[in-house]
Amino acid sequence: MTTVSTKDFLGHPSGLKTLFFTEMWERMSYYGMRMLLVLFMTATLQEEGLGLTVASAAAIYGLYTGSVYFMGLPGGWIADRLIGGQKAIWYGGIIIMIGHIILAIPSDYSFLIGLIFVVLGTGLLKPNIGAMVGQLYSDQDIRRDSGYAIYYMGINIGSVIGYGACGYLMENQGWHWAFGAAAIGMAVGLIQYKITTPNLNGIGAKPVHPLSKKAQKLSWTIIYGFLASVVLVTYMIFQDMLTIVPVTIAQYVAVAFSAIFVIYYASIYFFSSLSVIEKKKLIALLIICVASACFWSGFEQAGSSMNLFTRDYTDRIVGSFEIPTGWFQSLNALFIVLLSPFFAALWINLGKKLVSPSYGIKCAVGLMIMGSGFIIMFFAAQHAASGMKVAPYWLVATYFLHTVGELCLSPVALSAVSKLSPKRFSGQMMGIFVLTYSIGNIISGLLAGNYDPNNVAQIPSLYIQISLFSIGIGLIILLLGFKSRFWENLSEDKTTMSNA
Ligand code: GLN
Repeated sequence: MTTVSTKDFLGHPSGLKTLFFTEMWERMSYYGMRMLLVLFMTATLQEEGLGLTVASAAAIYGLYTGSVYFMGLPGGWIADRLIGGQKAIWYGGIIIMIGHIILAIPSDYSFLIGLIFVVLGTGLLKPNIGAMVGQLYSDQDIRRDSGYAIYYMGINIGSVIGYGACGYLMENQGWHWAFGAAAIGMAVGLIQYKITTPNLNGIGAKPVHPLSKKAQKLSWTIIYGFLASVVLVTYMIFQDMLTIVPVTIAQYVAVAFSAIFVIYYASIYFFSSLSVIEKKKLIALLIICVASACFWSGFEQAGSSMNLFTRDYTDRIVGSFEIPTGWFQSLNALFIVLLSPFFAALWINLGKKLVSPSYGIKCAVGLMIMGSGFIIMFFAAQHAASGMKVAPYWLVATYFLHTVGELCLSPVALSAVSKLSPKRFSGQMMGIFVLTYSIGNIISGLLAGNYDPNNVAQIPSLYIQISLFSIGIGLIILLLGFKSRFWENLSEDKTTMSNA
């Protein structure tokens, strides 16, 4: 595999610049549009929305975010075995852009069709761009964690731009202009990607583990068959031949995604002729995947129950100004942008001193820090339960802890996936990892279903349960992390190597 060791972008290979800006624009379009979704679905027909109930809109939202990340699994496979990461990113981006353009068209049909395009495109782009960041570094390169921290900052700069641009257009021009802005963001990302692809020095240019010609033909037939069935189901929904009950589907999908995660992971582990060392590394990675799924199950309350808590029980008046509820959503991304350089430097400095904590330990700490954020929410909810509105700093402090937890876990886990996966499965393993986002998002939705805005006395117990669960699992992962750190550092040529 090609490895680039030039220092062109903040002391990192220049390919990082290409991936950083492509993902920044893709996330701008994703988060900008995601912010509009529930608001658009629940707005009345007079307000030019879809007039859906909150329950249906929340379930569709959960299904959409879950499916976006679920499609990373076939997306990673297609790159590894059929087309390579570079093409997956390019075509994925084009499909996403077409999806946003369709959403910008005011029509009864555009909503579902546009969402399907974004789901399919993101499935192709997201896992492969994440995997290619790791391929910029050799196994021994201590810049890998820091590279992922920088890449993660790009993700969040993109989401800040998305919230700002789409939020502004939604208020001032209307829904479809805001959806259009997401399309323009993705187009800018694609142009940037095309111009700067040479920076990647051939990384991802070809599939790492290509199929035989015959198997390729069969795979494409299956892919076209799948796409034809998506078209058919969409047509049947439009013709009222198929009725969708979003809440029920969301429950089944949560179980199905978890089962698929287990089956896919187990089949790679047992049936891919892995060496003993590769198997041990996969076990170390499994612990990180569990931490990731638990982390997002708690963290994703931000868009649901914490959003409602902000709206209903937080005193948002400052002088004569009322802070809009939505602004609290961007605190996380802002904190990430502010704290990322600090974390990137921290991992490099710890790496240089050879005291770098293992991936498992960092993820366990991240999960526990996120859980401790919910202790703050527990006290805030108790104040609310006693009839008072709480000051905004409770939420600010919670989002701060959630962000610190996210920075210990999320970019670190991406780095771990790229380091611990067998190279020939890099795209698929990133797809499996992205599936933990999907599981986390859906479980989070189910947990948020216990939030009853009319029964404020119950809210503290929701938050303390999430907190105890996260801290408890975090402690178990911490203990396992002391063992798995040895597996993380195994290499085929030497028995052990220094931690990266
Ligand atoms: N913010 C991260 C990203 O967009 C993680 C998203 C998630 O829901 N896990 O990549």
